[in-house]
Amino acid sequence: MRRAPTILHLDMDAFYAAAEQAAKPSLRGKPVVVGGIGPRGVVATASYEARVFGVRSAMPTAQARRLCPNAAYLSPRFTLYRQVSDTVMELLRALSPLVEPLSLDEAFVDLEAGGVPAETAAVRAVGEQLRRDIKAATGLTGSVGLAGAKMLAKIASEAAKPDGLVVIEPGTERELLGPMPVRTLPGVGPATAETLRRAGIHTVAETAEAGEAELVRLLGKAHGTGLYAMALGQDDRPVVAERDAKSVSVEDTFEVDLTDRTRVRNEVLRLADRCVGRLRAAGRSGRTVVIKVRNYDFSTLTRSETLRGPTDDPAVVREAAVRLLETVDTTGGVRLLGVGVTGLAGFTQEDLFAQLATEREAEEQAAGGAAEPAEEAAGEPEAGVELPRRWHPGLDVVHEEFGAGWVQGSGLGRVTVRFETPWSAPGRVRTFTVDDPALRPGEPLPLLGGPDQSSAPAIRPKSVSPAGEAESEAGEEISRR
Ligand SMILES: [Mg+2]
Repeated sequence: MRRAPTILHLDMDAFYAAAEQAAKPSLRGKPVVVGGIGPRGVVATASYEARVFGVRSAMPTAQARRLCPNAAYLSPRFTLYRQVSDTVMELLRALSPLVEPLSLDEAFVDLEAGGVPAETAAVRAVGEQLRRDIKAATGLTGSVGLAGAKMLAKIASEAAKPDGLVVIEPGTERELLGPMPVRTLPGVGPATAETLRRAGIHTVAETAEAGEAELVRLLGKAHGTGLYAMALGQDDRPVVAERDAKSVSVEDTFEVDLTDRTRVRNEVLRLADRCVGRLRAAGRSGRTVVIKVRNYDFSTLTRSETLRGPTDDPAVVREAAVRLLETVDTTGGVRLLGVGVTGLAGFTQEDLFAQLATEREAEEQAAGGAAEPAEEAAGEPEAGVELPRRWHPGLDVVHEEFGAGWVQGSGLGRVTVRFETPWSAPGRVRTFTVDDPALRPGEPLPLLGGPDQSSAPAIRPKSVSPAGEAESEAGEEISRR
């Protein structure tokens, strides 16, 4: 625990929704919901105007539509969000070599490692300047928390929202945390909160009063011990630069070489569970599952499989590990087994929900299935009509005559487009047939800039994954260790 609030947590405000409002002048000041727009979609981000109606992240979009029928419901545009994210992360990396991104719009920064004096006035000045720089570079607002520990810095940025900065002075954390609900603490999800509630524990103060022994009894050793420390405001987890924490892995060496296929398989399952346990304890998820096998003759090989999105689901990691094991000849006897998860991009559930929801919709459409076009502009969807993915609400289009715009709605064989750009006045709406040859998908425009830059976005994404990316790519390499 530091004696000065030198750990900074940045969190952009309602990131996806705010980016859409910046891009689409007609939506500014209005409720906007970004996420899966189909019948089984999930909300990724709601603008503050939509939150007033009770719309929240991870809520089924159908429920959000009931709560806030007049909001604009948009598909996510990850290309744009990644561009903005790159700009923000670059500003953070200018502050310190220790930047730990948690998602596209959230990161910890160790200001002490960046040479900022360990004094409240100095770190506050850095935080305020960062907020101004982010606003100038992206047009969007972010909130900053400053504290002596990661957990507290995150709680501070939450308290600062929207568009603010909060410092938690070391020494005041117990008093501050005490009355907060136990869900405030990292690692306390609905299930843990319910276990604690049944034991009469609702607040952080009650968690601390329960004592370590009682928490261990309720939650098990690792979780109980960790939670007790958090309840006391003790959190000495370091800020870990992304490049330093790309993987979590566990391995076991066996005294006697394993030859029995079932035994090998069971060991791999056990290691997969242990690996996921460590992953979850670190609050991370990863995209690539790796197994390592050392044979009786000390030859070592690894096999890896890259999943469609990051996971911390034990069932997913177990299945992938067993699939990989099936590609390895273990008949000569196995000396060592390992299971790891790499590609810890630090994507949070928010990103994942939106990504899965849009992918699922695309699949349903490809299958001629039940995807439901937005009804907003063109009435009820026509039965049996397939909505091309490019006409999802919110997506960029270019019309030969009218220029750049975005899809406002689609149905009955028609698509409604609003022609406006991030730097224009709110634009007009026009309706076309879905197969109008003058209309084609467009690229996201930069949020800041002007008409002179409209044909050449100022910021280019570093990488864009192709829409039809393969489900998994099996890789193989001989371990260098
Ligand atoms: Mg955010």
